Amino acid sequence: QPVLAVVGRPNVGKSTLVNRILGRRAAVVEDVPGVTRDRVAYDATWNGRRFVVVDTGGWEPDARGLAARVAEQARAALDTADAVLFVVDTTVGATDADEAVARVLHRSGLPVVLAANKVDDSRGEADAATLWSLGLGEPYPVSSLHGRGSGDLLDAILEALPPAPRERFEEIDGPRRVALLGKPNVGKSSLLNRLAGTQRSLVHDVAGTTRDPVDELVTVGGETWKFVDTAGLRRRVREASGAEYYSSLRTAAALEAAEVAIVLLDASESLTEQDQRVITMVVEAGRALVLAFNKWDLLDEDRRLTLEREIVRDLGRVAWAPRVNVSAATGRAVDRLAPALRTSLESWGTRISTGRLNAWLGEVVAATPPPSRGGRLPRVLFATQAGVRPPRFVIFSTGFLEPAYRRFLERRLREDFGFAGTPIEISVRVRE
Ligand code: GDP
Repeated sequence: QPVLAVVGRPNVGKSTLVNRILGRRAAVVEDVPGVTRDRVAYDATWNGRRFVVVDTGGWEPDARGLAARVAEQARAALDTADAVLFVVDTTVGATDADEAVARVLHRSGLPVVLAANKVDDSRGEADAATLWSLGLGEPYPVSSLHGRGSGDLLDAILEALPPAPRERFEEIDGPRRVALLGKPNVGKSSLLNRLAGTQRSLVHDVAGTTRDPVDELVTVGGETWKFVDTAGLRRRVREASGAEYYSSLRTAAALEAAEVAIVLLDASESLTEQDQRVITMVVEAGRALVLAFNKWDLLDEDRRLTLEREIVRDLGRVAWAPRVNVSAATGRAVDRLAPALRTSLESWGTRISTGRLNAWLGEVVAATPPPSRGGRLPRVLFATQAGVRPPRFVIFSTGFLEPAYRRFLERRLREDFGFAGTPIEISVRVRE
């Protein structure tokens, strides 16, 4: 999500204006402890557009003088911002400190929205116009106290923020879409037959064409699911040469259409390279995942113990995925698939508010700060969830964070928020 930094001198009505922007729709307004002693981040929504508001806290003038202090504060806020809201007190006019900030903002090249605050009635609007002198474009007269002008101001803010990125995955109405994946002979068609039973119905791509039916609606656990791209399964194609190549094409196509994948593994045999490749494809496609161990009816005690060890050794990277032990042949535990699918899909769409996320981040980073790199200690500033399906997080920091530290953060995120059954992505944005 884009970040709006709010800067301004003390007593210009900054906090009141921030509250105005957050409005009643603001989720939980929480402080950001630890990481950002001088900054607070909030979730805001205007006209359906979500963004993060970073309020730069108050400060006291020091020996170097107020103007220098203010400029420095503004500079720090710009590190993480996509746009800036600069608040000026219209009843006072542009002060030296305001001009110092204006110079910093100008140099930053960031889009700036200038709020001429404390314009409580139409008489103040002439005073607001004098703020053109700051060279930051049109001053927006507002009264953060009474709400006057705040709609126009918010519109201007949305204009200044970068355009909304499209969610990576578009929501389509109708049944949730499942890809049933796995190497040949693992039991995909058997499982589909078992699940479909008599309730099988084929979904034709375009009525009247000779194309193969592509998807199948199957009722599992009292809910209708769309198993995508099952044509190959139904026909029980047994490709001879190039089988792997074709099955990986099929896997990619099914993943493209699906929200969640069931990766079917053969519990009676050791995991293969091909199993790992299919799992990797699901994770890289950013889809929710359920692991199903099939042919459970063939397992004796020995094999069961060996399998446990193999899971620990070979599937550690997807330890977060729900596992279901089934037998397509006997029907064992196939009714556990639906709850597992629901769990994974729910995690896949989970959003954590910026407030909660940063309260969490503050604690984690305070307890285990990132290791220094090249003699410099990167400072973690704050984080925001950039998207869902799958959950994507952006962490702002003053330096590169080691992959090991990102993995640590991912592990802690999973421990504290769940995310069973979904890959999550963490990227780091470095602001010097
Ligand atoms: P696909 O290539 O993944 O679609 O696999 P199939 O569904 O065609 O199954 C391959 C073979 O495994 C067939 O001979 C099935 O009868 C057998 N099979 C599938 N599921 C099970 C199972 O749960 N237990 C046992 N014992 N055999 C199974």
